[in-house]
Amino acid sequence: MPDKIALLDLTYAQLRDLLKSWGEPPFRADQVWGWLYRSLVSDFDQMRNLPKELRTRLDEAAYLQTLTPLAESVSADGLTRKVLFALQDGETIESVFMRYERRRTVCVSTQVGCPVGCPFCATGQSGFRRNLTAGEIVEQVLYFARQLMGDKGKGEKDTGEGISNVVLMGMGEPLLNYEATWQAIETLNEAKGFGLGARRITLSTVGVVPGIRRLSREQLQVGLAVSLHAPTDRLRNKLVPLNRRYPLHRLMAACRDYAQETGRRITFEYALMEGINDSLEQAQRLGRLLQGLTCHVNLIPLNPTVESPYQPSSHKAALAFRRELERQKIPTTMRVGRGVDIQAGCGQLRGKRE
Ligand code: SAH
Ligand code: SF4
Repeated sequence: MPDKIALLDLTYAQLRDLLKSWGEPPFRADQVWGWLYRSLVSDFDQMRNLPKELRTRLDEAAYLQTLTPLAESVSADGLTRKVLFALQDGETIESVFMRYERRRTVCVSTQVGCPVGCPFCATGQSGFRRNLTAGEIVEQVLYFARQLMGDKGKGEKDTGEGISNVVLMGMGEPLLNYEATWQAIETLNEAKGFGLGARRITLSTVGVVPGIRRLSREQLQVGLAVSLHAPTDRLRNKLVPLNRRYPLHRLMAACRDYAQETGRRITFEYALMEGINDSLEQAQRLGRLLQGLTCHVNLIPLNPTVESPYQPSSHKAALAFRRELERQKIPTTMRVGRGVDIQAGCGQLRGKRE
């Protein structure tokens, strides 16, 4: 469909302009937007209050669906589901849906593969293919939202059983695909449509300093998570190759400015790897690095990947690490390995298939 418009790639303003150029009255944009992001239709024929001619014209000029589910795996407890999607050009991405307490969270990908190449990450090991478009990012959320709506058999999403949170923590580095990622966030947040509050959206970055600075100037304030994984440049250069471009002193300065400008607390992600980054001395250094910053550390058990030599830390080492951070008054949580049995670590299902 080379000449057709991918409708989900349009911002609200672009949709309004398109319909206006077709001679439609201004309220049509609200109607179409509502069908797309509130009623979650996947077909123009379902847009029942539009005149038949407009539906036909939309169908001729545009298309809605770009993701085709190829495989799905469900965790043993049934609470985590991971889907592998094919894109129109045959590339593949993964998205994960998680039920946790009262939350229904979708974890979305922002790129096909990832150019950063962290050696412990399945996505990083698979290389980089391309950026996703805003529509491809949004559609991952719509896919699960439609299923939830279907489960309830209701025609509208405002049943309290829709998607409650979106995390940009799937494949790819969102801040290396800033434009599309930000547009997707705005589309999900738009009040006339999906209406997901900015506080319910969390973006995880490996530390792209200009991107963090740009985020702090945005009107919408989404949650920010920074994947740290090491307290020294020497180690971080190895675990997160982008650290060579944005070393710790620059990253921490950007984080401090971000916290000050936005008044928001940053989450630092730290995947504990046995004998690599989990010693008591490293915990002490990490604590010193974060002193005085409004933050929170999330210790993640490493998901071992096929190609990587890294192993998760022992429970004992993880507890000692956590105790040291708490001794330094740094709020710390320890994520339990969720969906390990379905290889919910990013990029792992895709890797298995290839
Ligand atoms: N590129 C971004 C977002 C996607 S990765 C980033 O790196 O932050 C999302 C999270 O998964 C990151 O915190 C990343 O470090 C973590 N991750 C990647 N591979 C992992 C693995 N094998 N085990 C545990 N966490 C992993
Ligand atoms: Fe990319 Fe994040 Fe994986 Fe590193 S951890 S390779 S930045 S997706």
